[in-house]
Amino acid sequence: MWKTAFRRSSLAFAILTTVHCCPEKKNPPGDTGGTECTSDDKAVRLGKLVNPEDGTVIDNAIVVIHEDRIRYVGADEKQIPCGASVIDWTAYTGLPGLVDAHVHFTYQTDKEPGTLPWARSSWLMSNNPYKLLDLARGAALATLETGVTTAIDKGGGDFILNPLRAEIRSGKTPGPRMFNSIGGISNHKYPSAFTADQLKGWVQLQVLRGADLVKVWADQCSDQRLECVPTFTFDELELLVETSHQEGLPIAIHAYHEDTARLAIMAGPDSIEHPEGLDAVDCGNMIDKGTIYVPTIDHNRYYKDNLAFFGYAPDLAAKFDAYIRDNLASTAQAHLLGVKIAMGSDAVFTGFGQNTRELAWFVQAGMTPLEALRAATIHGAESIGVQHEIGKVAVGYYADIIAVEGDPLADINVVINGVRKVMMGGRVAEL
Ligand SMILES: [Zn+2]
Repeated sequence: MWKTAFRRSSLAFAILTTVHCCPEKKNPPGDTGGTECTSDDKAVRLGKLVNPEDGTVIDNAIVVIHEDRIRYVGADEKQIPCGASVIDWTAYTGLPGLVDAHVHFTYQTDKEPGTLPWARSSWLMSNNPYKLLDLARGAALATLETGVTTAIDKGGGDFILNPLRAEIRSGKTPGPRMFNSIGGISNHKYPSAFTADQLKGWVQLQVLRGADLVKVWADQCSDQRLECVPTFTFDELELLVETSHQEGLPIAIHAYHEDTARLAIMAGPDSIEHPEGLDAVDCGNMIDKGTIYVPTIDHNRYYKDNLAFFGYAPDLAAKFDAYIRDNLASTAQAHLLGVKIAMGSDAVFTGFGQNTRELAWFVQAGMTPLEALRAATIHGAESIGVQHEIGKVAVGYYADIIAVEGDPLADINVVINGVRKVMMGGRVAEL
């Protein structure tokens, strides 16, 4: 349904919009082809527009869009260019498009009978990449539908992710704007000494594979026991961070276990993914180094809800619960101490479409809805250094705007369940 609706969005767009008329600039009688009152610009009218940076609200807001960027935000009618298409979202409250700072679009299964998701995903990657690409397109659509207009993929096949990123950017495929970490850097031979040249080479390989950021797995965890072993030393992590920054790429470090997280934080990455067990020193280090925490609390809820689908033993449920409890406690502590936190779903397989459920955990961890919104917009953008063009409805930013039904500052569920309209890069999708 969604796919069809989006592909026909130009038709829907025509129905939903009106053309802004400027009587004082009407073309002379008989002149029907003049250019005086035509414009390719768009204007969106919103009942309210919330700025997640400071919680300010503009009533009867107008956002003017030129191509894929915002050129005006305010409430002044006169700023609507003559002939611009006007989109009426006055029944809704506008927010910046959301940023999901942790997804895996290529972890997909076609649910072939007798197969389990993780193994099937690898099989498709090697044997039926077109099928996998199509499944990834579906995941991108489901993500966009939740109001996520920017997604940071933290591990997958470059030969799927790069074409998907290009398709979405060109407008051919609907989905969130993608930033890819490609396959990332992991190590299965720990403890093992790597040379500096080798580590640098691994980062450079990510650049050549078209990565927008570097992803490092600093520990390896068993999905059957949820136990983790470290995979890099502190010196190695520090060199990986240093090299990534020299190459101009942000770097995200996966660290499930608190001991690994401690080392990873000291190495100074742009973001740290998953950890529980963070203490006040870790939080202080994150603030000092500008590291953003992506807790991904909800993904263990997803695994717990889908034990049979993944082929996990029923007794794993208690371990997921324990991890969620510790993860939530870490998030609460980090928030209290002023660490910047970003929304990352760690969505895989059937989890796409549930991308924003993380926000409910954030509120449970002590954030106000406004703070949770900031995590889902500005902090997500900051985690990869794109906060100058993504994460706000502001002049010069990408025209990524969502419209929700209800008051998102009063109830975070309005954002989780109430997204009614999505615009990405000036293009409207009808939900
Ligand atoms: Zn992940």
